[in-house]
Amino acid sequence: MGKIILFLVLAFVAYIVIKGAARRSRPPSAAERPPELMVACERCKVNLPRSEALEDGGHFYCSEEHRRLGAG
Ligand SMILES: [Zn+2]
Repeated sequence: MGKIILFLVLAFVAYIVIKGAARRSRPPSAAERPPELMVACERCKVNLPRSEALEDGGHFYCSEEHRRLGAG
């Protein structure tokens, strides 16, 4: 009976060790990547990712409406 309990304890310890090793070897998460360049809308000054901004004449806008209205 004592051997079964010892085996269960060892199995549990091995499970924790393997789980911990798997967590450490994970590839870098999205949070660890460099942040995307942020730009400010010329109209309302809201910050948004470069990839989502509309560019017009070297200026960035948050929406088509603000691009049309231009810098205010
Ligand atoms: Zn805007």
